[in-house]
Amino acid sequence: RAKDAGGNEHCDYEPSLHANAEEKRQLEFSLRKALERGEMLLHYQPVVDAKTEKVVSFEALVRWNSSEHGFVSPGKFIPLAEDTRLIVPIGTWVMQEACKEAAGNWPSHVKVNINVSPEQLLEPDFAATVVQALSHSGLDPKRLEIEVTESIFLRDASVARKALEQCMALGCSVALDDFGTGYSSLGYLRKLKFSTIKVDRSFVQGAAQQSRESLAIIRAVVAMAESLGMTTTAEGVENEEEAEMIRSLRCNKIQGYHFGRPMPATDVRMLFVRSNAEAVRKRA
Ligand code: C2E
Ligand code: MG
Ligand code: MG
Ligand code: MG
Repeated sequence: RAKDAGGNEHCDYEPSLHANAEEKRQLEFSLRKALERGEMLLHYQPVVDAKTEKVVSFEALVRWNSSEHGFVSPGKFIPLAEDTRLIVPIGTWVMQEACKEAAGNWPSHVKVNINVSPEQLLEPDFAATVVQALSHSGLDPKRLEIEVTESIFLRDASVARKALEQCMALGCSVALDDFGTGYSSLGYLRKLKFSTIKVDRSFVQGAAQQSRESLAIIRAVVAMAESLGMTTTAEGVENEEEAEMIRSLRCNKIQGYHFGRPMPATDVRMLFVRSNAEAVRKRA
């Protein structure tokens, strides 16, 4: 029986496997040209202080508007870019572009968060690309926070750590993204001084659905971060109930659709112009 089922599966699977491989090949072909064609752009999502609800940072999130495939989600092209190492030039572009945007158009108290893949971090000249992005843009290193996931420690942990320490020596901070979803060895929390732990959206959702486990985990992460001198950001907060729950758990910062979706750079600028006008009006 098992053999029969296996045989059937085999027949059903083959064509779709080929289709996937073919689709992937075409996507890769287009991805190779995306940067030079100017198809990459950045959206920015606000991160707010949990108490004051003031924007403390924007996370840069890359978008690909392909002439051949239309909008392709990062969930699809980032893994492909990582597999093909195209993430290295794409990541360098993201770093330069986001630093330039933050330095040129944002108030100086607002930081920028930039996601970095393991493949990028393990490049020997990673820190040099950060130095270059900072010096070209004139961005104060204190305003740059690099986001990495636990996956960086799965490979060359000491190389990854050194690269991040070089960035910290420049004055940048480092956040641990999607915390609790990867291979979580707590050992490296002892070795690397993250400024922020970002609690993954799955825990926020779980807690909102009254999952006692999710609540307990968020509580424990917040307590651990506090005693390590780190802050916490809750990811994926979608409504007021979730925001209220996160506040009661004493997360320091909140990110999610409830406070703002990822938006084009021009929308961010408009927001600052408007809030400036408001501040002036209040003072008058
Ligand atoms: P991430 O760094 O964890 O970014 C947060 C993701 O959650 C973003 O998805 C964001 O749009 C989404 N999100 C934010 N708030 C909410 C919410 O309230 N509800 C829901 N359902 N989702 C929310 P996005 O933009 O699709 O990016 C997905 C992932 O792709 C990112 O996850 C990050 O790992 C990766 N990525 C994005 N941009 C870059 C980049 O420039 N470089 C690298 N290496 N990776 C990137
Ligand atoms: Mg992130
Ligand atoms: Mg995240
Ligand atoms: Mg995530």
